[in-house]
Amino acid sequence: MVTKTLKKKRVLKQGMLENVMRQFNHAADSIDLNPNIRKILEMTNNELVVHFPVRMDNGEVEVFTGYRVQHNNALGPYKGGLRYHATVDIDAARALAMWMTWKTSLAGLPYGGAKGGIQLNPKKYSHSELERITRRFTYALGDNIGPELDIPAPDVNTNAQTMAWILDTYMSTKPPAERSMNMHVVTGKPIGAGGSEGRDRATGYGVFLTIKFWAEQKKVDLRNRKFIVQGFGNVGYWTSHFLEKEGAILTAVQDASGTILNEKGISVDSLLAYSDANNRSIYGFAGAKSLDSSEFFGLDCDIIVPAALGNQITADNAKKIKAYLIAEGANGPTDVEAEEILLKKGIDIIPDILCNSGGVIGSYFEWLQNRNGEIWQLDEVMAKLEKKLKESFFKVMETAKIRNVDMRSAAFIIAIERLEEAYVQRGIFP
Ligand code: GLU
Repeated sequence: MVTKTLKKKRVLKQGMLENVMRQFNHAADSIDLNPNIRKILEMTNNELVVHFPVRMDNGEVEVFTGYRVQHNNALGPYKGGLRYHATVDIDAARALAMWMTWKTSLAGLPYGGAKGGIQLNPKKYSHSELERITRRFTYALGDNIGPELDIPAPDVNTNAQTMAWILDTYMSTKPPAERSMNMHVVTGKPIGAGGSEGRDRATGYGVFLTIKFWAEQKKVDLRNRKFIVQGFGNVGYWTSHFLEKEGAILTAVQDASGTILNEKGISVDSLLAYSDANNRSIYGFAGAKSLDSSEFFGLDCDIIVPAALGNQITADNAKKIKAYLIAEGANGPTDVEAEEILLKKGIDIIPDILCNSGGVIGSYFEWLQNRNGEIWQLDEVMAKLEKKLKESFFKVMETAKIRNVDMRSAAFIIAIERLEEAYVQRGIFP
């Protein structure tokens, strides 16, 4: 009986952590990574779990569990989002923190990797409850975050408003003379509260750019290409917006509320207006018909953009995929078995740590502006973002070619080698 329960648990645990570890080990093996450095990188540096009480609108107190995992800071302060979702647990935070380390390293940023969040379904709470939850969580994190230590940002179900609450709470705990020195404790803030132009669209624009660079290389014209998107939050929306502007056609969208299809095309802005008015759900949108969710990945299309949660493309649905490109707007959407199937079928995957790195690059620009007391214009931010992404994209393509590996392996190799170099140069204390 006990064995059975354990076995069941293990199967359930095969989530994102196993996925990122397999990706890491695969790349580390292929470059014969120094075994001492491998030992360091396969562990997280710090893991914080906090339980904190919050008073609900009805007067009752609820106790929440929040996480912040700091994986590595060899290249700079820890950096990564906070997610509010029922799937947030210590393993998810570990996995997502590791992906952040590879992502910031690949992007050439002076950051390490972290991730965290709260295990909850934000749809169940009022605006003012979410504010109190966020503020109390920030207070519980205390000085484990900081503008030069660990810098959170938005992720699944958190946004600029969440960041503004964190900033305000964090600043309030500091002496008055130090408050304004702490603007860069979080990124992804509203522009009025120290945020940067362009940070809102940075991830989606980055996803779009990597698709565009890929298409240029393959001599594919994006006009009239069909794309489908899983998740219609910040990343799903902005990616769709830029792809539609380029002439591609959004034919299907899936989110937690349902799956919708219109082969003739779904208007991105009409869908956004509908979802904004419908508690951020796409289900029931009049411009498309509803489908069974299991049909989504097998739909007839050219490009799939998973922009929701991890482990969505698995051995089960990978076989059905007809698209020739998968652009990972989400973190860890494709599991290792699925990836093997897709690569065998000749389907390209622009890996998450490259594909969605526009977000953290945009965060870096916001952090720099706060730190230096500067305010940059939108076109300046977008141009800088494009330049940085182009550099990483072509570095990945070149490494893939030289080493004869897929894009994910190439991206991991570049990221790991940069960290390896830092450790070799600095040595290990004492
Ligand atoms: N949550 C985003 C990510 O997964 C952004 C992180 C950041 O800007 O720090 O990359």
